[in-house]
Amino acid sequence: MKCGICKADMEEMNVTYTEDIEHGVVVIRHVPAHVCTECGNTWYSVTVARELENLIDRFASAVGTEVSVVDYSRLVA
Ligand SMILES: [Zn+2]
Repeated sequence: MKCGICKADMEEMNVTYTEDIEHGVVVIRHVPAHVCTECGNTWYSVTVARELENLIDRFASAVGTEVSVVDYSRLVA
C-alpha cells in the first residue's frame, strides 16, 4: 500500500503506540501497523485502531498507575 501523505511505499511492521491519558500514559507494544518508508506516517487498520481504543479505555479506567506498558500481541491475538 501507498502512503496517504507522500505516496511512498508503506512497510508492515510492529510499532509501539503511546497514548496520553488523564492520569498517565499507556504504552502498547507490538502493534501491527503500516509505516511509510519516506515520511514515517503510521497507519493502523480499522480492526487494530478499534482494539487500540478498547485497550486505552480499559487502562484509562484503571486508577493508580502512571505508566501502563502492555503487549498488543498478547492481549488481542
Ligand atoms: Zn509518507
